[in-house]
Amino acid sequence: MPICDMHMHTRISSDADQSLENNVLSFCETAIKRGIKHIAFTEHYDIIPDPGAITCDALEAKEAARLAKERYGDRLDIMHGIELAHIHRPECTAEGKRVLDEVNPDFVLGSLHINDDGTDYYTMDFSQYSDEFLLSSLDDYLSQIIHFASFCDFDSLAHCTYPLRYFHMHSRLGIIDMKKYSEPYSELFRVLMKRGKSLEINSSTLRGDYRQPLPCFDLIKLYVDLGGKKFTLGSDSHHYDLVGTKIDEVQEFIKSLGVEGVMTYHNRQESFVKFD
Ligand SMILES: [Zn+2]
Ligand SMILES: [Zn+2]
Repeated sequence: MPICDMHMHTRISSDADQSLENNVLSFCETAIKRGIKHIAFTEHYDIIPDPGAITCDALEAKEAARLAKERYGDRLDIMHGIELAHIHRPECTAEGKRVLDEVNPDFVLGSLHINDDGTDYYTMDFSQYSDEFLLSSLDDYLSQIIHFASFCDFDSLAHCTYPLRYFHMHSRLGIIDMKKYSEPYSELFRVLMKRGKSLEINSSTLRGDYRQPLPCFDLIKLYVDLGGKKFTLGSDSHHYDLVGTKIDEVQEFIKSLGVEGVMTYHNRQESFVKFD
């Protein structure tokens, strides 16, 4: 049974299922039904100079999380999170700070969705790009995310191999052996550890045929081997029916590496929650 789900999007996020019932209350009911004890709503707040950016009304998200706590707070540990993206870019840093000051979330999931030209991998037309370009964009993504991790204000770093979700779906590259990227990922993990941040394991790609989480099992093991202890686990569900899905698989894997629990956040303060 998954202990938590620290990455969820309701209809408040512009890319989630927009049906009326895809709201915080349905997410809470599903979590309770599935025996999940801790959940965080992390609506998207992408800051890029692009009108198509995936985003939300951050005050609406705060109010929805408050309502969820009021209705279900006696049965579930509910956190008001935000998935805040691209705050490493000079033109986005001030807006990131402004929104955090405005909504004071419990938990900030730091996130990077774009290539260095500002295109989200989610909207990229893969037929327009060569394999060489895609591989070099992965190098670029990595240097951007190391930069992001080195100074931005967040609690856990989301899906740090994000391009792989879309490479696998759309390109001819197939499954990339991430052992080749051990060096830059070691650097990234050391930065996270030094700053006391958590690493997210995102189970969304275990629902498709990639059969690996983000980051993949090899990289999770590398993080643990380097001394990494802080994890958050998230399904990245955009529909309440997906709450907590595939988190048990990730949980079993990290338990097998000797990890004893995961992190939750309240008012930006971390707590260690032990597995049963
Ligand atoms: Zn994301
Ligand atoms: Zn997300």
